[in-house]
Amino acid sequence: MIVDIINKKRFGEELSYKELDYFFNSYLEGKVADYQMAALLMAICINGMVDEEIYALTKIFIDSGDVLDFSDIIGNKVDKHSTGGIGDKTTLIIVPIVSSCGVPVVKMSGRGLGYTGGTIDKLESIPGFRIDLSDEEIIKQVHEIGAVITGQTADLVPLDKKIYALRDVTATVSSIPLIASSVMSKKIASGADKILIDIKVGNGALIQEREDAEKLSQLMIKIGKVYHREVRTIISDMNTPLGYAIGNSLEVKEALAVLQGKEYDTNLVNLCIELATEMVSMGKNISSEKAKSEVMESLNKGRAYHKFLEIVKYQGGDIDGISISAKEKKIKAEKEGIVKKIDALKLGKLSISLGAGREKKEDLIDYSAGIRLNKLLGDEVKKGDVLATIYTNEKIKVPDSSEIFEIS
Ligand code: URA
Repeated sequence: MIVDIINKKRFGEELSYKELDYFFNSYLEGKVADYQMAALLMAICINGMVDEEIYALTKIFIDSGDVLDFSDIIGNKVDKHSTGGIGDKTTLIIVPIVSSCGVPVVKMSGRGLGYTGGTIDKLESIPGFRIDLSDEEIIKQVHEIGAVITGQTADLVPLDKKIYALRDVTATVSSIPLIASSVMSKKIASGADKILIDIKVGNGALIQEREDAEKLSQLMIKIGKVYHREVRTIISDMNTPLGYAIGNSLEVKEALAVLQGKEYDTNLVNLCIELATEMVSMGKNISSEKAKSEVMESLNKGRAYHKFLEIVKYQGGDIDGISISAKEKKIKAEKEGIVKKIDALKLGKLSISLGAGREKKEDLIDYSAGIRLNKLLGDEVKKGDVLATIYTNEKIKVPDSSEIFEIS
């Protein structure tokens, strides 16, 4: 039976709910071997799935674990998910903006793996910040201050955890049906009423082509309809890192600078405004235009900044305790010109060698390590100008600027 199911997908046939349920749950119970699941995942990767199969898989994923119920919290709970990027600290910025506009936010985030960072690691660079809140604590905090950012405590979608680890090592991560069911099952199980998905496209993302991002977007919206959840998507660039900073403490500092109005009109700030606008529009059922003016007011009046400090304090963090490695190295321009390209993927890989990210789940992170760009896309540079500053306690070879920056 197991082999028959693999064979069916190998020849591009459609699998029934019963077949998928049997195969995936047998895997969760340890009755299907990793190599058999890997064969099925590869067949799905190559031959795809029709919508009915994707809805079935999403349901099987959701049913594999707990489903949270935050219906005690009044108002539309809006959640946001990013498919992963380099320098992506948007959650730290948009949660306080959206909350300060009056929309309750329960944000459950994860850790980073590979070259993409995770919000929980960034928050743990703030000494004392608690990321292990219980459901009761989450509800109390949202009632009292309107926002919470925490790690996942309940056993949400255990099947996805097991399968994601296998996809990671079998070159089956970038399958659109698998990404859609993985992301949507987690968002639905975590109790959100409305969901915003930031789909990244580019060399530092899972998806390289805009056409694929559009397919994924349509699929996620359709899955949302099946579960009566409003889903909106934004497709955003991930060829260039977001903002100036890559690395946990550096990214928290950058988020603070954005919230204080010290950084503006970067790709990071513009994306945060776009994401926060959609979340406020969904949460309050108002037009995007009206939502944007509320978002700008919250930022300009410092309300979002104060909300961030309130969240940090409530969750036990000491914002003044963030530390950056004192050991600096510089990447300097080898010629003059305009910065035409900053390679997100290479910077992501560099950040791992500095200790700022993990290659394996068990790796420890150096929160104080990372990279700060001194120049962004479109900036003019002279020979010898500092393009980026590397902070690390590791012994590393500083890359030549031409490995990361294209200047012409
Ligand atoms: N993020 C997820 O949670 N799942 C995927 O499959 C891809 C990105």
